[in-house]
Amino acid sequence: VQSTMQDVPLLISRILTHGSTLHGSSQVITWTGEGEPRRRSFAEVGARSARLAHALRDDLGVQGDDRVATLMWNNPEHVEAYFAIPSMGAVLHTLNLRLPAEQLVWIVNHAADRVVIANGSLLPLLAPLLPHLKSVEHVVVSGPGDRSLLDGAPAQVRVHEYEDLIADKPEAYDWPELDERQAAAMCYTSGTTGDPKGVVYSHRSIYLHSMQVNMAQSMGLTDQDTSLIVVPQFHVNAWGLPHATFMTGVNMLMPDRFLQPGPLAEMIESERPTHAAAVPTIWQGLLQELNAKPRDVSSLGQVTIGGSACPPALMAAFDELGMRVCHAWGMTETSPLGTVARPPAQVIGTEEEFAYRLTQGRFPASVEARLTGPGGERLPWDGESAGELEVRGPWIAGAYYGGQDEEVLRPADKFSEDGWLKTGDVGTISPDGYLTLTDRAKDVIKSGGEWISSVDLENALMAHPDVAEAAVVAVPDDKWGERPLATVVLKEGATADFATLRAFLADEGKIAKWQLPERWTVIEAVPKTSVGKFDKKVLRGQYAAGDLD
Ligand code: ADP
Repeated sequence: VQSTMQDVPLLISRILTHGSTLHGSSQVITWTGEGEPRRRSFAEVGARSARLAHALRDDLGVQGDDRVATLMWNNPEHVEAYFAIPSMGAVLHTLNLRLPAEQLVWIVNHAADRVVIANGSLLPLLAPLLPHLKSVEHVVVSGPGDRSLLDGAPAQVRVHEYEDLIADKPEAYDWPELDERQAAAMCYTSGTTGDPKGVVYSHRSIYLHSMQVNMAQSMGLTDQDTSLIVVPQFHVNAWGLPHATFMTGVNMLMPDRFLQPGPLAEMIESERPTHAAAVPTIWQGLLQELNAKPRDVSSLGQVTIGGSACPPALMAAFDELGMRVCHAWGMTETSPLGTVARPPAQVIGTEEEFAYRLTQGRFPASVEARLTGPGGERLPWDGESAGELEVRGPWIAGAYYGGQDEEVLRPADKFSEDGWLKTGDVGTISPDGYLTLTDRAKDVIKSGGEWISSVDLENALMAHPDVAEAAVVAVPDDKWGERPLATVVLKEGATADFATLRAFLADEGKIAKWQLPERWTVIEAVPKTSVGKFDKKVLRGQYAAGDLD
């Protein structure tokens, strides 16, 4: 029997048209660092996206699946690029502005980007790269910044002003009826090992992912909400928020380049967002800022935290301030929404609720999960058996970008033979489907044949009132193979010494005795990756020999 349903492709242009008409009065509010924020309605964003698409096609000759890169902060022009580029059939490539120069060059050349749209404030980063970018023909500059930095750009690169380019273009575009499986956007993983890997999202995967983000079991926002989108638009599409908000009319509050704790606290107090999303390190910084200078942050009913494990102490402190944390797990390869920690109805209001909120969360209907043991065996969902998490679903990557080579497309350490994504994350799943990650496979400390979770040690340490941040890495050990090294950032004026911290960990059996670190060091700050996570590779490099200060 043939289905009798219409076959309407799930396209980003449909999200754009819906958001800019039915939710035309919703706003993108952008922090400027001084005075009033910029305010632009979804209707205006829609019209300007159409104008941008005309400019890209008619003036810059973008066609087919040409890649158009963005080197931008979170702001409305970046949202316009998000919608214009895929809607016209081209491919949006968001560049991570925190990557080292040589990785950015590698990524742009690998994706063969023809156009780069860049914020003026990022020209000091872009200008020196241009001579090395083989495929780039056009640079489009938006927002404040010194244009003269591009005076020495190579002859084949033409420089344009964003506003001039779109100024006299039509406010409507006849968006093509594309194949929903066509590439819409691409994002490279930050390449903690080996070359960065490109993930290419389709219109369909982004559309379905956006619907999931909007479900009550996920973020569940409506047009009564304002979402402070701190997670960068270059970090897995800002976790899908720009697309999802256009579906439901959620106002976006964009920090632009003002990502420091002070301005964040100010924008929360003055614009009163109801939701915010960022990695834990951003929130740790905000917490210290609020302790030093209290602000009214009571509008934030929901704070989505993901990207790395949310320390229990952070969740508890946010609860105290009336900001309710919702923990979530995902990765570039999963668009990123993989799990969201909404506790089951029966534990709400009980003591168990907090423990559920601390898990990485439950899988949505479209994400299938399984745990695989070291010998490839399937492990039960008993909340105890720990193995590598593998997932599949309509917004999960099935390969990487890069030609025909099977080893590049589907490396054996990343995809199972039957096509599931191997996440590299180790954990357990409870019988009711809640994921608890104990570690990344590469961060786990292998001591005398047993595994020690670096995350457990970090969380326990960060619960001590004197500790601002703590990162634990494996260091080589003659007897045990590896042992944990605790690197600790103390709060200002704090005095706790290692013996005190060790006793704190051992207290009430929080951490088993054999897991207690014997190596400790105080550091100024934990090194961070390009997306604000603890950079354990750097720490391991610094302490590879197990030498301490
Ligand atoms: P990178 O690998 O460069 O950090 P991603 O942003 O794709 O880039 O990172 C995905 C990884 O981040 C996951 O595989 C997992 O290890 C970690 N991660 C994400 N969310 C969480 C979370 N809630 N708890 C623990 N780890 C997390």
